[in-house]
Amino acid sequence: MSPAVPPPAVASRLANVASSPVRDLLALTARPEVISFAGGLPAPELFDVDGLRAAFDRVLTEQPRRALQYSTSEGDADLREVIAGRLTARALPTGADEIVVTTGSQQALNVVTTATLEPGDVVLVEDPCYVAALQTFDFAEARVVPVPTDDDGIIPEALEEIAAREPARLLYLVPTFSNPTGRTLPAARRTAVAETAARHGLWIVEDDPYGELRYDGEPVPWIAASPAASDRVILLGSFSKLMAPGLRLGYLRAPAPLRQPCVIAKQAADLHTSTVDQAVAARYLRDNDLDAHVRTVRDAYRARRDALLDGLPAALPAGSRWNRPAGGMFVWATLPDDRDAAELLHTAIEYEVAYVPGAPFFTGPPDPSALRLSFTTHSPEEIEEGLRRLAKALS
Ligand code: PMP
Repeated sequence: MSPAVPPPAVASRLANVASSPVRDLLALTARPEVISFAGGLPAPELFDVDGLRAAFDRVLTEQPRRALQYSTSEGDADLREVIAGRLTARALPTGADEIVVTTGSQQALNVVTTATLEPGDVVLVEDPCYVAALQTFDFAEARVVPVPTDDDGIIPEALEEIAAREPARLLYLVPTFSNPTGRTLPAARRTAVAETAARHGLWIVEDDPYGELRYDGEPVPWIAASPAASDRVILLGSFSKLMAPGLRLGYLRAPAPLRQPCVIAKQAADLHTSTVDQAVAARYLRDNDLDAHVRTVRDAYRARRDALLDGLPAALPAGSRWNRPAGGMFVWATLPDDRDAAELLHTAIEYEVAYVPGAPFFTGPPDPSALRLSFTTHSPEEIEEGLRRLAKALS
């Protein structure tokens, strides 16, 4: 037998997946003794297990053959109708045919990327930006161009200037309770963003997995609801934070010309989202008051956010800054004197507390002093203890 030729290397787009020091470090934070502000997970004790069990029971009793069969790529007709109804009730008139159900909103982002971007195309992102979106654009071989932000999110003047200079095709942003910053883009800026996109011929991907987790203040209208951009916004939604992320249920609401391309892209990815999970979600949404459940989750998260905010002044070194998010899951902080949050994470882990360093979220020059703190998965008491540990670690 001739000598075996080794199989080829993995694709170059995946060549450096093995080497993230932050990821290796964060693996240590999964130890049960660590109080972790690093995760981005919803609180599992708040899942409505009984309600979901009852919905699974009903679906598998009443329509087992349909629920376990292949189905359409667009998604379950009942679920699309309920989703459209929920968007319409929140002042974004939507028909069921405008919705494509996806396997999490992460897949919605993938599908939209496949449907809109050629290799080398320019994508504008807020800086810092949700890391898995950056990864998606990287895999599509897009050229990502960061747009500066301030405490209110993306800066419209900077966006206008960059959009005038770069031949961009798509703007991606998380305007409400952003990951990683927790910031919310004010209404006037949303209008300005919509107008810039219209002026320069951009798609806008408005990623909104957190919008319903509002703890204070009034909702800000979606960019998708802005008349200037109604022909160009793809709104992404998710049940991960409202029901349970393990269901992997998300959706996109796309303008007509993009809908069929998105359905085809999804078909190539996974044919369709789990039939049974979609049927269960539709059943759950008809038999239960999801809004009442969301109110319970919001009350718990508000108390956790407040515990974090109340404890931060004593936990972070003098001169640190942080924001007060009106919703979502994250507080964004910066340490004084350019202290390096990634470096300090080693010490924090020794004290059995963790956070996510902010640097990996940047596509422009990173701010090494930034960090993201999630407040959803620990009780207020655990958060207080976590902050006592953090104070010792950072002192
Ligand atoms: N977008 C953002 C901004 C997120 O933070 C997340 C979850 N971490 C997702 C999309 C993906 O959510 P899912 O696929 O669970 O809907």
